[in-house]
Amino acid sequence: MKRETREAAARLCGTGRRAVDLGLSPGASGNVSVRTAEHVLMSPTGVSLGELEPDVLSVLAPDGTHVDGPAPSKEYPLHLALYERVGDAGSVVHLHSPHATAASCLPAWSDVSALPPITPYLVMRVGRVPLAPYAAPGSTRLARNVSELPGPFRAALLANHGSLVAGGDPDAALAGAIEVEEASRLVVSLLGHEFSVLAPEEVRELTERYGTPWD
Ligand SMILES: [Zn+2]
Repeated sequence: MKRETREAAARLCGTGRRAVDLGLSPGASGNVSVRTAEHVLMSPTGVSLGELEPDVLSVLAPDGTHVDGPAPSKEYPLHLALYERVGDAGSVVHLHSPHATAASCLPAWSDVSALPPITPYLVMRVGRVPLAPYAAPGSTRLARNVSELPGPFRAALLANHGSLVAGGDPDAALAGAIEVEEASRLVVSLLGHEFSVLAPEEVRELTERYGTPWD
């Protein structure tokens, strides 16, 4: 294994353990991947994110062909769909974290985002989070629903399912997923209450400064 691949594999396993430690991977759910120059390394099917081993990851070609290691998570098409949409993504994290999953069962906040610009941190670290329509887990339809979301985005909520977040590397993808979980937690805890969100010009100031997508 090349050094670059070995390092990417080790970082991916560390990210999986942190997701479990933070309680973001209930019941061994969720899957993570990292993209190298030649392949996508992915958590295998049926393996808890807390028990990933760098030498026992699924190795996929960019088109999804399984080239080495154990069979990948059945949700691998979602990851490939997000890599295609986010050209500079080096890693994708998909979680069924409790609050993001709860928020994914609510109507989208607006045409562009499932979550409102409720804190500056969501806006500056992630940007808008569109809602992909429901389709069965692991289905090509679900991956297509992500591919067909309009406009630029780095993260999405999958309706009645969970979150899907891209980042430059596994640490960054997990940091984005944590931000989505936090914003979702606030939204869910404020349900039934009136609450304020950032004004459009406040959102614009942040997206211009941090280069994140919102409109
Ligand atoms: Zn899932």
